[in-house]
Amino acid sequence: MRQSKVAGMATTASIQVRSPATGEELGEVPITSPGEIDAVVRAARAAQPLLEEMTVHERAALLHRAADIIHERSDDLSRELALEQGKPWRSEAVEEIEETVGNLRMAAEDVKRMDTAVIPSERRGKVVFTFRKPNGVFAMITPWNFPMMIPSELIAPALATGNAVILKPSEFTPLSGQSLVEILEEAGLPAGAIGVVHGAREAGETLVTHPGVDAIGFVGSHGTGEAIVRAAGMKRTLIEASGNGPQIVLADADLAAAASAAVEGAAYLAGQVCVATERVLVEERVHDAFVELVLERAGEVVLGHPLEDTTTMGPLNNEPVAAKMDRHVADAGERGARVLVGGRRADGFPTDLYYEMTVVDSVSPETLLFREESFGPVLPITTFASDDEAIALANDSHLGLQAAVFTSSLRRAFRFIHEIRAGSIQVNETTGYWEGRPPFGGAAGTKTGWGRIQLEDFTDLRTATIDYLNTPEE
Ligand code: NAD
Repeated sequence: MRQSKVAGMATTASIQVRSPATGEELGEVPITSPGEIDAVVRAARAAQPLLEEMTVHERAALLHRAADIIHERSDDLSRELALEQGKPWRSEAVEEIEETVGNLRMAAEDVKRMDTAVIPSERRGKVVFTFRKPNGVFAMITPWNFPMMIPSELIAPALATGNAVILKPSEFTPLSGQSLVEILEEAGLPAGAIGVVHGAREAGETLVTHPGVDAIGFVGSHGTGEAIVRAAGMKRTLIEASGNGPQIVLADADLAAAASAAVEGAAYLAGQVCVATERVLVEERVHDAFVELVLERAGEVVLGHPLEDTTTMGPLNNEPVAAKMDRHVADAGERGARVLVGGRRADGFPTDLYYEMTVVDSVSPETLLFREESFGPVLPITTFASDDEAIALANDSHLGLQAAVFTSSLRRAFRFIHEIRAGSIQVNETTGYWEGRPPFGGAAGTKTGWGRIQLEDFTDLRTATIDYLNTPEE
């Protein structure tokens, strides 16, 4: 069992971390008090100039060293992650660890090529150029679905560009975040340059409003995102919040591919992904054929213990997300939808968090399943009669992260690419498809947030002008 503590600090309350898969206690972390948070912020402020003084090549070398350590320990780290988060070990947790390695290496290399412009001046004898400075001390507030990869996608570019970072991992999965911070320390970052704060909302609020924190990177639900933006005032924020991914299936699509993609998008990580397939919009005339294929694919999902090799879907991570599934499925039933398969927590497992793969048909836009992010293993199916109606349904959401369209027509695909309000759109691929490098984030006008998790998001663009004609010679 893991015991973690914030170095040299006396703490009273703690979080007992229990596995959603087995219910066993995996470890304990102390809840960081406001006084301790102040000390972590002060240490970060003291360390930040040391990081900034390093060359980008020196900072890159530290990130590569941390990536090497994570890669070497991938087996243990992925196993711990599977038990803490609940995701299948071999098929998902190992992938998350390797994506973490990838994020560290990518930031380390990209920062070396981060050039800025020399701008032609209006006047003779002047050179105008831009340069980038780190934002200062960054607080990173992260969720429980990818408890190591998501912190790394914020921390790696922030450190690479010379910011000090304080991570507040989710209270549901603090051990993975703690491990990442310890490995970065071990790689040789200056003391204080990477810190960790544990706790729930209160710890997050204290960090966000601390005057020593310059900028906030947030990944989580849109409600929390809004609360953070309000509390942060004029501080820089990067907000990556909830999705309600529609997958649109046009009648001219490869229906078998569309059905596989839909089930994959809803079952991966038991649907607890911001880019999960949260809604399927299918053209009326292919509805029956599509549903038949979906039910076949859904029948292949194997719910089970994350460490079993045969498992393709593990338990939900925590009771609030499981209770949300219960609520959404019950509401759909009350509003005339039909549960075709699943729709309940599964019997015979050590915890009550195992949820059956669920397919719900005739889902109307008034239901919670349609309107809100469910974050569980559910495929809600809604029909449409025309492309106009499909676009209207897809955009009938306050969220807009990632969408997908299945069609064999390039003309129709381009119309959907342009008219669906989402930060990213997949054509003939699941909504769940994701790569670390492309810009990623919410569409303007939605509550999914802003920023694209690129190196630029972690820096301050500045301008200098030199008048070399009027500079006196020595
Ligand atoms: P959450 O919003 O409940 O919590 C996220 C983090 O915010 C946690 O660390 C939590 O302790 C902290 N927090 C809560 N209230 C706070 C406050 N008032 N001030 C500061 N911090 C506060 O989200 P969650 O349930 O952990 O994660 C699931 C959500 O994350 C889903 O909505 C999902 O779509 C979203 N998500 C988005 C992305 C993305 O890239 N857009 C990626 C993964 C998850």
